[in-house]
Amino acid sequence: MTTDSRYGWLGGERCQDCGKRYRMPWHAPDEVWEKVMGSEGGMLCPECFDRLAACRGYDLYWSCAIGNFPGDIPIVLLKQMQETEMADVRWKKAEAEVERLHNACVKMNEEICQIAGQALGYYPWFKDDQKNFPGATEAHGVCVGDHVAESITQELADRFRLAEEAIDAYSPKEQK
Ligand SMILES: [Zn+2]
Repeated sequence: MTTDSRYGWLGGERCQDCGKRYRMPWHAPDEVWEKVMGSEGGMLCPECFDRLAACRGYDLYWSCAIGNFPGDIPIVLLKQMQETEMADVRWKKAEAEVERLHNACVKMNEEICQIAGQALGYYPWFKDDQKNFPGATEAHGVCVGDHVAESITQELADRFRLAEEAIDAYSPKEQK
């Protein structure tokens, strides 16, 4: 939106004096604004500006005009700016959501790798290699190398099958 605080844009600006939103687009010439406000910046509704001017001894008159507002920015362009802003907000939200989901996937992958890696029992613990991983504790888990959730789960399943076969081989056979 326009950065010139003297222009109220169509979405409605908030008056810094009464706190109300005003939708009446209006503009005061620079010299009038500075006489009444005592400075360049600020945002006032017409009523408060009128009241403040009266307090300072200025009688204002108001005139109306036809045209695009604020300044010479066409309404269509203003709407486009608003839409671009909204699209930007939506884009940023979508980006944040993608990042959240990505982080969730990474976290889940790591958790599965740790559960499977620790169950397999032969992966080295980071805490046991203080030289390369200073300060590592049990919470840092085991090093599963290039494994991802799918591959380490497959490895765990393979070992499980082998273990079952071994158990079967050593079990006393049923007498027929
Ligand atoms: Zn006001």
